[in-house]
Amino acid sequence: MESIKARKPITSIKPRVAIISTKIGSLAGTERIVGREHSRIRLRILVRDGAACVKCGKGVNLVVDHIVPLFRGGVEGDENRQLLCSDPCHRLKSEQEERERGNQTG
Ligand SMILES: [Zn+2]
Repeated sequence: MESIKARKPITSIKPRVAIISTKIGSLAGTERIVGREHSRIRLRILVRDGAACVKCGKGVNLVVDHIVPLFRGGVEGDENRQLLCSDPCHRLKSEQEERERGNQTG
Protein backbone atom coordinates (compact mmCIF):
# COMPACT_ATOMS: atom_id res chain seq x y z
CA MET A 1 0.00 0.00 0.00
CA GLU A 2 1.29 3.35 -0.95
CA SER A 3 1.68 5.88 1.76
CA ILE A 4 0.49 9.36 1.15
CA LYS A 5 3.43 11.62 0.72
CA ALA A 6 3.21 14.79 2.63
CA ARG A 7 3.63 17.76 0.41
CA LYS A 8 6.51 19.86 1.37
CA PRO A 9 5.80 23.51 1.70
CA ILE A 10 7.76 25.71 -0.61
CA THR A 11 10.66 26.91 1.45
CA SER A 12 13.14 28.01 -1.10
CA ILE A 13 12.18 30.85 -3.33
CA LYS A 14 14.82 31.93 -5.74
CA PRO A 15 15.39 35.64 -5.69
CA ARG A 16 14.38 37.33 -8.83
CA VAL A 17 17.34 38.61 -10.69
CA ALA A 18 16.65 41.73 -12.57
CA ILE A 19 18.33 41.61 -15.87
CA ILE A 20 18.79 45.07 -17.17
CA SER A 21 20.01 45.28 -20.66
CA THR A 22 22.89 47.66 -20.85
CA LYS A 23 23.41 47.16 -24.51
CA ILE A 24 22.02 50.25 -26.04
CA GLY A 25 21.80 50.73 -29.72
CA SER A 26 23.47 53.62 -31.36
CA LEU A 27 21.75 56.55 -29.80
CA ALA A 28 24.36 58.99 -30.88
CA GLY A 29 23.08 62.21 -32.17
CA THR A 30 21.03 65.00 -30.83
CA GLU A 31 18.23 63.53 -28.82
CA ARG A 32 16.24 65.81 -26.61
CA ILE A 33 16.49 64.83 -23.00
CA VAL A 34 13.43 65.48 -20.92
CA GLY A 35 11.86 64.19 -17.73
CA ARG A 36 11.40 60.46 -17.73
CA GLU A 37 13.96 59.89 -20.44
CA HIS A 38 16.52 61.61 -18.27
CA SER A 39 15.96 59.25 -15.35
CA ARG A 40 16.16 56.30 -17.72
CA ILE A 41 19.52 57.51 -18.93
CA ARG A 42 20.69 57.89 -15.37
CA LEU A 43 19.67 54.33 -14.54
CA ARG A 44 21.33 53.02 -17.67
CA ILE A 45 24.66 54.70 -16.91
CA LEU A 46 24.38 53.69 -13.27
CA VAL A 47 24.13 50.03 -14.26
CA ARG A 48 26.74 50.25 -16.98
CA ASP A 49 29.35 51.89 -14.79
CA GLY A 50 28.67 49.61 -11.83
CA ALA A 51 27.02 52.24 -9.64
CA ALA A 52 30.33 53.79 -8.77
CA CYS A 53 32.31 56.85 -9.71
CA VAL A 54 34.52 55.93 -12.68
CA LYS A 55 37.35 58.03 -11.31
CA CYS A 56 37.53 57.28 -7.60
CA GLY A 57 35.13 54.36 -7.24
CA LYS A 58 32.90 56.04 -4.69
CA GLY A 59 29.32 54.82 -4.69
CA VAL A 60 27.46 57.78 -3.25
CA ASN A 61 26.20 61.10 -4.63
CA LEU A 62 26.61 59.98 -8.20
CA VAL A 63 25.85 62.13 -11.18
CA VAL A 64 25.85 61.43 -14.88
CA ASP A 65 28.51 63.55 -16.50
CA HIS A 66 29.24 64.38 -20.11
CA ILE A 67 32.79 63.21 -20.82
CA VAL A 68 33.16 65.79 -23.55
CA PRO A 69 31.02 68.72 -22.47
CA LEU A 70 28.30 69.73 -24.87
CA PHE A 71 29.74 73.21 -25.30
CA ARG A 72 32.86 71.57 -26.68
CA GLY A 73 30.96 69.53 -29.20
CA GLY A 74 30.19 66.53 -27.02
CA VAL A 75 27.26 64.42 -28.16
CA GLU A 76 24.13 63.38 -26.31
CA GLY A 77 24.82 59.67 -26.22
CA ASP A 78 25.76 57.02 -23.72
CA GLU A 79 29.26 56.79 -25.14
CA ASN A 80 29.76 60.36 -24.00
CA ARG A 81 28.40 59.77 -20.52
CA GLN A 82 30.08 58.60 -17.38
CA LEU A 83 29.24 58.20 -13.74
CA LEU A 84 31.01 60.56 -11.38
CA CYS A 85 30.60 61.34 -7.72
CA SER A 86 29.31 64.86 -7.33
CA ASP A 87 32.18 65.72 -5.02
CA PRO A 88 35.01 65.94 -5.65
CA CYS A 89 35.24 64.38 -9.12
CA HIS A 90 32.34 66.10 -10.86
CA ARG A 91 32.90 69.37 -9.04
CA LEU A 92 36.53 69.51 -10.09
CA LYS A 93 35.71 68.59 -13.66
CA SER A 94 32.99 71.23 -13.81
CA GLU A 95 35.28 73.87 -12.41
CA GLN A 96 37.88 73.08 -15.03
CA GLU A 97 35.30 73.16 -17.78
CA GLU A 98 34.00 76.48 -16.54
CA ARG A 99 37.50 77.88 -16.81
CA GLU A 100 37.88 76.49 -20.32
CA ARG A 101 34.55 77.89 -21.35
CA GLY A 102 35.52 81.29 -19.98
CA ASN A 103 38.69 81.26 -22.02
CA GLN A 104 37.14 80.44 -25.35
CA THR A 105 34.49 83.06 -25.95
CA GLY A 106 32.84 82.40 -29.24
ZN1 LIG B 1 34.74 60.30 -7.67
